[in-house]
Amino acid sequence: MTKRAYNFNAGPAALPLEVLERAQAEIVDFRGTGMSIMEMSHRGKVYEEVHNEAQSRLLSLMGNPKGYKVLFLQGGASTQFSMIPMNFLTEGKTGSYVITGSWGAKSIKEAKLFGETHVAASTENDKFMSVPDLKSIEVPENAAYLHLTSNETIEGNQFQQYPSTGNVPLIVDMSSDILSRNIDITPFGMIYAGAQKNLGPSGVTVIIAREELIAESPKNIPTMLRYDTHYSNNSLYNTPPSYSVYLVNEMLKWIEEQGGTAELEKVNRKKAALIYDTIDRSEGFFQGPVHPDSRSIMNVTFKIGSEELEKQFIKEAEQEGFVGLKGHRSVGGFRASIYNAVPYENCKVLAEFMTHFKQKHA
Ligand SMILES: *Cc1c(COP(=O)(O)O)cnc(C)c1O
Repeated sequence: MTKRAYNFNAGPAALPLEVLERAQAEIVDFRGTGMSIMEMSHRGKVYEEVHNEAQSRLLSLMGNPKGYKVLFLQGGASTQFSMIPMNFLTEGKTGSYVITGSWGAKSIKEAKLFGETHVAASTENDKFMSVPDLKSIEVPENAAYLHLTSNETIEGNQFQQYPSTGNVPLIVDMSSDILSRNIDITPFGMIYAGAQKNLGPSGVTVIIAREELIAESPKNIPTMLRYDTHYSNNSLYNTPPSYSVYLVNEMLKWIEEQGGTAELEKVNRKKAALIYDTIDRSEGFFQGPVHPDSRSIMNVTFKIGSEELEKQFIKEAEQEGFVGLKGHRSVGGFRASIYNAVPYENCKVLAEFMTHFKQKHA
């Protein structure tokens, strides 16, 4: 048996063993071609089939919403922070943002380079330990879009529901919670996600957008940064990150085999509850700083509060085979990233380890 770490990395993150093993079996000779998929033309029938399969699988897992197109781009979710204002923030309009953490702050920073921006709501005063009440989100009439971060990966908060924005397109960064729960995507203008958290490996950014939003872009921006370039060429204008797209397709197959997002959601909620309960029942030994109704089911953040004990926790965790539990350097403490591919069993082992650690050191 292969030795696998208890991987709680924030991104790139754990992939299902089944997906890795299938990729291993296919890496040298893909579907009888005598080549790896990495070695073949992206203009050939074999690659294109995988590419199209991945798009239709993703839409199908989202309930086949009408009028949406999937794009596979490069440059990570971070490039979307600037592509969004470049493509949509036209003269006389404002880019409206809800800021609930580090990624949201980075997204508005880019928009400011291109036009007028507006903060529709922010929880910065609460150190981003919550998401705002949906009723407090104010979308101005001249908003080009409303942008929000569905799950703030670093702070560990997550929207439980999304605001309705009427005719203003709702654009959501779902990098760290895409396909982790069952949602109706028809209220969204565009969803985007770097694949390396919930969807596969790094190297590809997935966009799901209403066709009318991306079918035509301003002519004065670079070809590669226009959505319409990728829309009208089925994301094959230039060489796509073919191996990453292949792995995303395998990951999507795996999600189908788990029973789709409704089943994944059940497991994800159970995983998160296990760790949050361990924190809440520790009589204050562990503290979960995020407000309970804003807690993320993907990134569980917690702390002990004593620098010495936190060092000891990481040391003992490493000895037990846990990886990636250190919190982001900007917030400290700990973070267990429990994306789709992280098994329930691993969360159970972590919860047990935490309880033992408390018994030993409290
Ligand atoms: C990781 C992450 C990003 C940045 O993704 P890159 O692909 O590294 O650019 C953006 N937003 C959120 C919510 C993330 O978790």
